[in-house]
Amino acid sequence: MSGAKRRKGAVLVTGASRGIGRGIAVELATAGHSVVINYRSNETAAQETIERCRAAAHQARESDPALDEEPRFVAVQADIASAEDRHRLVEESFTAFGSISALINNAGIAPRLRLDITEATPESFFEVIETNLAGPYFLTQAVVRRWLEIGTAAEVRDAKQVVFVTSVSAETASPSRGEYAVAKAGLAMASKLWAARLATENVQVIEIRPGIMETDMTSAVKETYDDLIAGGLVPQKRWGYPEDVARICRAVVDGDFGFSTGSVIHADGGFHLSIL
Ligand code: NAP
Repeated sequence: MSGAKRRKGAVLVTGASRGIGRGIAVELATAGHSVVINYRSNETAAQETIERCRAAAHQARESDPALDEEPRFVAVQADIASAEDRHRLVEESFTAFGSISALINNAGIAPRLRLDITEATPESFFEVIETNLAGPYFLTQAVVRRWLEIGTAAEVRDAKQVVFVTSVSAETASPSRGEYAVAKAGLAMASKLWAARLATENVQVIEIRPGIMETDMTSAVKETYDDLIAGGLVPQKRWGYPEDVARICRAVVDGDFGFSTGSVIHADGGFHLSIL
């Protein structure tokens, strides 16, 4: 490889305008990947992610001239809860880059209101399920169909990856946001299902399960969580940051977990441990 440029595939990251998704996009840019930056409505934030990706890629190339010279960063507005938008997102991603090498299912929402399970509404339940479960489930289907269609030529059969960003809520019972926990538990099963289906197709599927992360999603409950973390709820006694998830994504997309399909990688400071 000496002297040759290392060309890396383009990666579609959903919900990359802010928070964990932005962190993933910037980390992938640092590794030399092109990125499709999906967002739902915040175009300004998506453009800011593009700027950060460009700066990160530029800086990385200065220290590693063997990296691809021209990673590209494209923002695509699409609501992953909408079937029409999902198909347009896939079309635009494949049109921009010919194919994509990985899909990172990161976009997700919290319930608009944290309501006790005895009070929560069907509207909130279905909104969260459509976005956090049906969205990534069927977006993965749309991408996988394209991968399987474009077929058997050696270059398109290179290893590919699908990542599902779930949550400790997949296993932790929080009765004040049941719809979120049910969606994330379902998404953890979706990750296993896709891993089983794609094991012989050279596509690795990995679930990343974050704990309490400092993003816009948790800003309204920051002080509550500050106290819980200080009290030992998180064994490592700190908030998680987008980079904690982003560095795992980078390793997965770069093939470092090539024999680990179906695995769950915790990014929660030890929250999932049952400690006596
Ligand atoms: P965030 O800061 O609220 O950012 C959410 C991102 O998702 C934004 O880019 C947003 O786009 C996008 N998005 C929301 N709904 C969308 C939709 N229907 N279609 C397309 N994009 C959509 O959230 P975050 O904390 O980074 O969370 C990212 C993922 O990590 C989520 O799946 C979340 O459940 C999971 N997670 C978070 C935590 C935590 O403590 N924060 C913990 C565990 C797991 P716009 O900017 O356009 O609104």
